[in-house]
Amino acid sequence: MEIRLEPTGAPKVKPDWNNLSFGRYYTDHMFILDYAEGRGWYDARVVPYAPLSIDPAAMVLHYAMEVFEGMKAYYSSDGRVLLFRPLENAKRLNSSSARVCLPHLPEETFIAAVSALVRADQDWIPRQPGASLYIRPYLIADEAHLGVRLPLTCKFLVICSPVGAYYPEGLDPVRIYVEDEYVRSVIGGTGETKCGGNYAASLIAQKKAQDLGFTQVLWLDGVEHKYIEEVGTMNVMFRLEEEIVTPSLDGSILPGITRDSAIALLRSWGHTVTERKISVAELQQAAKSGALREAFGTGTAAVVSPIGAFSIFGELLPVADGGIGPVAQKLFDNLTGLQWGRLPDVFSWTYEIKM
Ligand SMILES: *Cc1c(COP(=O)(O)O)cnc(C)c1O
Repeated sequence: MEIRLEPTGAPKVKPDWNNLSFGRYYTDHMFILDYAEGRGWYDARVVPYAPLSIDPAAMVLHYAMEVFEGMKAYYSSDGRVLLFRPLENAKRLNSSSARVCLPHLPEETFIAAVSALVRADQDWIPRQPGASLYIRPYLIADEAHLGVRLPLTCKFLVICSPVGAYYPEGLDPVRIYVEDEYVRSVIGGTGETKCGGNYAASLIAQKKAQDLGFTQVLWLDGVEHKYIEEVGTMNVMFRLEEEIVTPSLDGSILPGITRDSAIALLRSWGHTVTERKISVAELQQAAKSGALREAFGTGTAAVVSPIGAFSIFGELLPVADGGIGPVAQKLFDNLTGLQWGRLPDVFSWTYEIKM
C-alpha cells in the first residue's frame, strides 16, 4: 500500500510536556484511508490534522457504526520508537468490525498506517518517564444514508495524542463501585468489541459512581447481575491467597491485550492463573475473610491499576490493607519495562517503527 504524505505547513506549538494529562492535545497529522463497496480500500494518506467534512446523514452519526482501538508508541531510552503487540490491536479491530458489519482491514495495512503517522509525528512522542503517544485508530461508516443497512462507504482513520504518565507519583489504588442497576453487555451483544456505542451506554453508571465518590464502575453480568465482568476500560484480576483469578472471556468481556500479556507474564513467573466465573458474593466473602490479597485492573491507559476498595451493594469493602499489592507492582514494572524496551523482549511483543 502506498501512503501519500501531505506535510502540514503550519506545525502546532507543542504542549507543556510535563502537564499533558489524557486526550487533550493532538498531533500535526492524521491518517485517512477510504473504502467503497466493490472498490475496496483506497487513497491512503497522512494529511494535516484538521476537522473532517462529513455529510450530516453519515450513518456513523445516527447508528453509531464505529469501532476503534487504543494503543501507544513508546520512546525508549536508546532512542527507538516502539509499539506493543500492534498485531493484536489490528486483529481486534477486525473482530469488532465483523460484529457491527464494518469492512475488514488487512492487518499489515493497519500497522503501516499507524507506523506512517507515528513517523510523521515522531517529534510528538513524549520523552518524559511514563509518558507516551496514545494512538487512536478507528473506522466509521461515512456513507450518507438513513436506512439501517450495511454501509457502502467507510473511512479508517488514525489520530495521535501525547499523554502523560497515568501515575506520575507511582501507583495509586482506586475505589471501585460495583454497579447493580445498569449493565454493560450480554453474551451475544457487543461487549466483546470496542465499538463506540458501548461507551455511550456506560456513561450513566460512571457518572453515578463518580457522584458517589468512586473512580470507576465494576460491571456485573447482564443477565443475573451476579458475576464480575470488568472495570470501565480495564479488565480485572484478583489474587486469592496465591492464585490469580480473572473472569473468563465468554462473550461479554473485552479481550484486553494488557490482560493477555499479564496472564502470560504471571504464568512465566510460576503463578497459577485461573480464568473462570467469579461471583460478586465470592468477592465479598474473600474480602471479608482476608483471602482477597490484591485486586487490580489492566488496560493500555493505566497498564495496571490497583484497587483499594469496592463498594458492593452499599457496603464498603477494603482490599487487604487498601495499598498496592506486590503482584500488581511487579506486573506494572515488568509490563512498562517491556513497553519502553528496558527489559529483554522475551515474548517478542515489541515492534520497532523504523524512522
Ligand atoms: C480497551 C478496553 C480494555 C483493555 O484492553 P487493552 O487492550 O488491555 O487496552 C478493557 N475493557 C474495555 C471495556 C475496553 O474498552
